[in-house]
Amino acid sequence: MNIIFLGAPGSGKGTQSERIIDKYGLVHLSTGDMLRAEIAAASELGLAAKSIMDAGGLVSDEIVIGMIEKRLTEKGALFDGFPRTIAQAEALDKLLAEKGQKIDCAIHLDVGKDELMNRLLGRGRADDNEATIANRLAVYQTQTAPLIDFYRAQGKVHTVVGNGTIEETSAKITAILDTLKL
Ligand code: AMP
Repeated sequence: MNIIFLGAPGSGKGTQSERIIDKYGLVHLSTGDMLRAEIAAASELGLAAKSIMDAGGLVSDEIVIGMIEKRLTEKGALFDGFPRTIAQAEALDKLLAEKGQKIDCAIHLDVGKDELMNRLLGRGRADDNEATIANRLAVYQTQTAPLIDFYRAQGKVHTVVGNGTIEETSAKITAILDTLKL
């Protein structure tokens, strides 16, 4: 099975991914983690991505689609922070179709704005200062939130209110995945 986590920065995509992958035997594909690894390795790609990430913008579709394409296997994947644009979502559908696969389910982690701000400010990551956060939330609204309708049109969206504890949210997600029996 292939699953997407959709949600604003701070909605818990990374945290919940870590808790879900082992249970369902999924490969964790986080473009944010891949980009941070490129920055840590001081690669050309990392250097190009860093200023965009520091400003809270989106790295080009071409770069992130290429990173995902390289890592797709026959195993099911959990996509975390990808796709972030309609173009990325369309590219992903195409790449999976070439492998005879598809997205089975898109979990939308829905967290209120005040809670998002509290979490992001408390996290202390390099791109978690106030100006960057404001931009990342705005970019999410304009570029990424439309994906909820994109996957809703395919009948794949399951919304999980993620304001509670990590455990409460995990329980809601596993309940959905267990019901789907993929
Ligand atoms: P994340 O860890 O998913 O919050 O990603 C951190 C930053 O990496 C984002 O704010 C973007 O600048 C960049 N990034 C991660 N994934 C993508 C993507 N799918 N498309 C474009 N930029 C991305």
